[in-house]
Amino acid sequence: MSGLHPPKPFPEAARDKVSQPQLRANLRKVTHTIREKRLRAVGEVPHWEELRVLGEATKDATLANLSDRLLQLEASVKARGGQVHWARDAAEARELVARIAESHGVDELIKVKSITSDEIELNAGLAERGIHAIETDLAELIVQLSHDTPSHILVPAIHRNRAEIQALFNRELPGEGNLSDAPAELAGAARRYLRHKFLTTKMAVSGVNFAVAETGTVCVVESEGNGRMCLTLPEVLVSVMGIEKVLERWEDLAVFMELLPRSSTAERMNPYTSFWSGVTPGDGPQEFHLILLDNGRTDVLADATGRQTLRCIRCSACLNVCPVYERTGGHAYGSVYPGPIGAILTPQLLGMADKNANTLPGASSLCGACFDACPVRINIPQVLIYLRGEANEEKGVTAEALAMGAVGYAMSSGWRFEGALKLARAGQGPLVRGGEITALPGLLGGWTQSRDLKAVPPQSFREWWRQREGADG
Ligand code: SF4
Repeated sequence: MSGLHPPKPFPEAARDKVSQPQLRANLRKVTHTIREKRLRAVGEVPHWEELRVLGEATKDATLANLSDRLLQLEASVKARGGQVHWARDAAEARELVARIAESHGVDELIKVKSITSDEIELNAGLAERGIHAIETDLAELIVQLSHDTPSHILVPAIHRNRAEIQALFNRELPGEGNLSDAPAELAGAARRYLRHKFLTTKMAVSGVNFAVAETGTVCVVESEGNGRMCLTLPEVLVSVMGIEKVLERWEDLAVFMELLPRSSTAERMNPYTSFWSGVTPGDGPQEFHLILLDNGRTDVLADATGRQTLRCIRCSACLNVCPVYERTGGHAYGSVYPGPIGAILTPQLLGMADKNANTLPGASSLCGACFDACPVRINIPQVLIYLRGEANEEKGVTAEALAMGAVGYAMSSGWRFEGALKLARAGQGPLVRGGEITALPGLLGGWTQSRDLKAVPPQSFREWWRQREGADG
């Protein structure tokens, strides 16, 4: 996987994954556990639906004046001693972080879990400049040590089991080698390794959950406390933020501090919430840089239907309820944004002309579970259908479109449909095995790649009905 860019069309990538029973079992166990816990956590809040409406309205109001809010944020951060940079795309953002590191003579830095930094492929970009980025979130560390890629927004190593992690830590962590698979022992080994890094590394890079325009406050929400160590111990802190993460007022945070933990980890309150504003002499990092990343977001903002995607607070609730994600896992989406949110965000950020990304809106049964789970009421099914239309326009007239047109023509009249059935019945003979068609020829073969078709029966319902009416006299 490379940042946002899917290396394959979704149907091709998904085919590899659905044939792995262990992967499907791992995913099913974790998504069902989180899903049930989330339902309980949400059920405790009698005004949950009103909160969702408030979250939606608050985000929409900010997005409606996004440029003003960002300029306000820039002024507030600078007024508190921070530095603000604007990055049009991933390359500019990577360059900014690398230059800051080089200006401090840094060849190793620590990172707070940040999907935005994965979006811009920061670690690989820094490595090209001789700078090693160390992930400090436990799951991200597992992914990094195994030279893997994250497969879930919240649980990046969801596809790994405990035995795999035991073998990995014994092999990769310095001074270990004899660990059992007990979770406490594995966590202790990671803690020993990370503590040393926290105390000896000069620079950290973080993502941003929210930034408040009126106060210049930046916020990171996390569960382990490793993020807080990164945000307070190093001398230099760089935070990379998608421009949609800005909120107007401090009070706005109250809504999201309730919506986010219950939707993501099913907690009433997340264990660690860090806020910082610029720099404070003698306390925490003495140099703070905020990088405001566009990378396709202003194009999304300009689209009246797609704009709602920018409300996303990356809680991952939509992943855990999605029947497609549950069977394919995150890697099938080929982008750092998997699941239902990835199916709409990735193609919009890259543009619908991207031949692999524009297959992602097809990765849905349109069951609507993602919309019901989304704490900021993004109508994901609506955007999926809209993007499917856009993808079809990009493709122009294809054999599939012609075939669907012919099917539509045949099905729009009773006699034409009956005629088509008779033709199919007469022609299907060589293809039928045990009452089923397992492989169709030519272009139609796509239908039978992952499913069998029932053979056309010897008598249609209409024929049976006519016969029955005749018999009844
Ligand atoms: S789309 Fe909604 S449910 Fe999915 S990650 Fe974003 S905020 Fe959460």
